[in-house]
Amino acid sequence: MGRGIPTKQHNIGIQGVFNVGVNMLSYESTAKDIESIGPKICVLPIGSLEQHGDHLPISTDTIIALEVAKRIAKHFNAFLLPPIPYSLSLEHRKSRATIWLSPETLISLIKDIAHSLEYHKYEVLIVVNGHGANFILRNVVRELNYTLNLLVILIDLGAMYFGSRHSREVHAGRSETSIMLYLRPDLVRKESAKDYIPHVTRDYLDYLSMLDISPYGVWGEPTKATKEYGEKLLNNIVKEAIDYVSEVIKFLKKCGHFK
Ligand SMILES: [Zn+2]
Repeated sequence: MGRGIPTKQHNIGIQGVFNVGVNMLSYESTAKDIESIGPKICVLPIGSLEQHGDHLPISTDTIIALEVAKRIAKHFNAFLLPPIPYSLSLEHRKSRATIWLSPETLISLIKDIAHSLEYHKYEVLIVVNGHGANFILRNVVRELNYTLNLLVILIDLGAMYFGSRHSREVHAGRSETSIMLYLRPDLVRKESAKDYIPHVTRDYLDYLSMLDISPYGVWGEPTKATKEYGEKLLNNIVKEAIDYVSEVIKFLKKCGHFK
């Protein structure tokens, strides 16, 4: 960044992806770093703690959202906020590894964070959502944009790699497993991966839990995952996200809604 932050490159972390290093503004910076550099853009990753089949860690969504957020933050010289490690995982509650929030809690959390940022006169908050079932985020983002002096932009990773309700891949399938093989191969138990594509569409999670619909807690084909596909997919997601954020800011500036 070359604006007062030490430029020494750190590894992704000794043991984990949560280590960001000192070469960018993040939750590992000092207050003085943040105050002296005065970033205007913040990036907030949202993950989850939920079963991801027998082959992926329960923190998969957090790991992926954080990595995407980190790359977006680097691109925009933004302040990377710590990931929210829990979200709306009610549909996975049959596994005792799953810890979930109520929608009200997540809404309050996002609103409180956005209010703090507005108080400090940050200009943009980019929310990177790594968990597909956080449907309320779009409503929260819309409400914040209509009420606060802060532009809030939602990047929804689930929508970017799953698409319609007829998608054959919803959870712990080829995409997520491939990205994890690329980011954290040490955490993937490829030999335990089992494919399962239920005969119903994704919205049936409104009625039944994932483990009622899929015996393995998987919806997709993780055995087809590769590190190469994961790298390509993650790079595409990051590029699409950066292009989208740039487009929104440019358009709003043109319309005079944003300085
Ligand atoms: Zn996931």
